[in-house]
Amino acid sequence: MSEFDVIVIGAGPAGSSAAIKLAQGGMNVLLVERGDPPGTKNVSGAVLWGDELSKVVPDWERSAPIERYVTRKEVAFLTEKSKIAISYSSQDLMERKSGKIIVRGKFDQWLARKAKDAGAMLVTGITIDKLVIDGGKVIGVMQDGDVITSDAVIVAEGANPRVLINSGLRPKLSDHDVALGIKETIKLPENVINERFNVDSKGGYASEFVLGFLDDGILSGGFLYTNRDTVSLGIVASLDRLRANGMTHSYDIMGKFEEHPFIKNLIKDGIPDEYAAHLVPEGGLASMPKLYGNGYLVTGDAAMFTFSNGMVLQGINYAITSGILAAETILENKGKISEETLSNYVNKLRNSYVLSDLYTFNGIQNVTWSDFTQKTMPKILDSVMMSMFDERGMPKKHLMQVLSAAVKSNGMKYTELISSGYRMMRKM
Ligand SMILES: Cc1cc2nc3c(=O)[nH]c(=O)nc-3n(C[C@H](O)[C@H](O)[C@H](O)COP(=O)(O)OP(=O)(O)OC[C@H]3O[C@@H](n4cnc5c(N)ncnc54)[C@H](O)[C@@H]3O)c2cc1C
Repeated sequence: MSEFDVIVIGAGPAGSSAAIKLAQGGMNVLLVERGDPPGTKNVSGAVLWGDELSKVVPDWERSAPIERYVTRKEVAFLTEKSKIAISYSSQDLMERKSGKIIVRGKFDQWLARKAKDAGAMLVTGITIDKLVIDGGKVIGVMQDGDVITSDAVIVAEGANPRVLINSGLRPKLSDHDVALGIKETIKLPENVINERFNVDSKGGYASEFVLGFLDDGILSGGFLYTNRDTVSLGIVASLDRLRANGMTHSYDIMGKFEEHPFIKNLIKDGIPDEYAAHLVPEGGLASMPKLYGNGYLVTGDAAMFTFSNGMVLQGINYAITSGILAAETILENKGKISEETLSNYVNKLRNSYVLSDLYTFNGIQNVTWSDFTQKTMPKILDSVMMSMFDERGMPKKHLMQVLSAAVKSNGMKYTELISSGYRMMRKM
């Protein structure tokens, strides 16, 4: 007889959502988190998109620590001296409350407490080393030489899947599998944020950036989200390119981003509060481990469930949904846990947006992490804008001619632009 029905490894969004669902279904659940309290090890901007959490915590927005709702969304290309942005502000976006800006430290603690309230046993400050496998079946977890037994284990350990690797259930990560995220939290008075970002006290600004000004082959995106009285500023950089360059450190990229003229003004007089680094799954289907086995299921970042197209970075919603679906699969198969019964988890993921998005956008990283998107596009756009708005008392040209000249001056052929642009539109 096992000590627990289910052990959940990691009290991030995936693990806590799974634990809530399992406890609500009457299961005896142990939720183990290495951070103390939960959230201390977690790094996201973060915007939580969607409303999946209401499936396990109805009316969750009433008690959740939501900083602001996204009312201004930007996507911007930065060159050395310019910013070319698409900015979307909408009252409808406010009414729909689709993007909730959260601070992970507060949010993860709140969600783990919900799991505890639902009846799960939450243990913090404990790191699980590996799964215990007996006769091909996972029968529990090992922590510092001790074995804790359970009928099933949900692996929700995040983007650095050491438990899976130590248990021989996935290969080590390569530089293609993950990117490196860095986030700084900067304190600014609430009224300054409202004025500077043109939002009211409930509304929020969220922007993704292409850092087209970086040199030496480095590829990196950036983000800036407004919390209530802090802003989250960060980068997500290609490990491949950092390694190939060998000279640039991730904090150099962060430094250049902070010093960019358009960012510098936004964070002026801010007081740095926190600085943290974390991996972000970026490899898509090719990096995904086996999602189930005899006695275990893999969820969230540990399963490499994220979506990033340069306009949004989403992972928290995928984590919550996969956690709930993993819990559902176990609840439906209580007393008959096997590899075969747990395989239904994959069907559930396929029928949800989680796996469906991963298949639809398979290979998108070849577009988002490309020199065309991150280097050539910003330069071409910058040249076009400059030609349009720099009045020199000369005869004006049609947009097509301006674009053609900009393409040429950036060392590209027009046909190359069309084919790269077409590939980009098809993948995004
Ligand atoms: C810089 C950055 C910005 C991001 N911005 C966004 C955003 O704006 N919106 C969005 O949706 N997503 C964003 N993401 C992605 C998002 O953070 C993840 O997709 C999400 O956190 C995944 O949730 P999870 O529960 O699977 O993993 P995690 O949130 O990583 O949680 C895993 C938990 O497991 C614990 N743990 C790990 N190993 C063990 C162990 N061996 N024993 C016990 N506990 C363990 C960890 O401490 C952690 O609490 C961002 C990521 C980064 C790095």
